[in-house]
Amino acid sequence: MSTKPPTGGGGGSALIEAEQTTFIHPQAICESDQVGPGTRIWAFAHVMKGSVVGSHCNVCDHAFIESGAVVGDRVTIKNRAMIWDGVVIEDDVFVGPGAVFTNDLYPRSHRDPNAPRRRVDEWLIRTTVRSGASIGAGAVIVCGHTVGRFATVGAGAVVTHDVPDHRLVVGNPARIVAWVSRCGRPLDDHLRCSSCGRRYTVVDGQLRCA
Ligand SMILES: [Zn+2]
Repeated sequence: MSTKPPTGGGGGSALIEAEQTTFIHPQAICESDQVGPGTRIWAFAHVMKGSVVGSHCNVCDHAFIESGAVVGDRVTIKNRAMIWDGVVIEDDVFVGPGAVFTNDLYPRSHRDPNAPRRRVDEWLIRTTVRSGASIGAGAVIVCGHTVGRFATVGAGAVVTHDVPDHRLVVGNPARIVAWVSRCGRPLDDHLRCSSCGRRYTVVDGQLRCA
């Protein structure tokens, strides 16, 4: 997690950075002692002991962040998103409402005392969401994958493979349908962002600013 000042961004980002008070709503459950300055945790969210949440994040109602999860700086976690042990969310990520991560490819209840025991290193499968990416509402991220920088996962998508940088994926299983700009807009045939007008080019299979 970076502690450096943010790069890029406009005045809005500077205003967010200026806020150093951590706000925890009286109806939230925040057991972690590793929540950064300027972060807001809203009602009925639960941030467990042993989780890490960076600075200037917004953790909305009913979100759940489990022990072992790591959240970077300036991350937005919308209502009812579920973030478990083994999930790393880098800086400036948007996690949409109801988005669900997983951390076990072969889940069983294991309440049966005769069931085989599994060590945590046998079942815990990690997931990373790289900086600037967005996870759409209700998406499911099957564990063991990486969502690339500035990638976007469409609403309701089920991610079963890595998502490369700057790619938009939709559907179940999620498939690549477009390049997506830093602004989050799908690029047109000329690789132009319809929001800011910035043009991109593809070099060695990677999207670059033109
Ligand atoms: Zn743009």
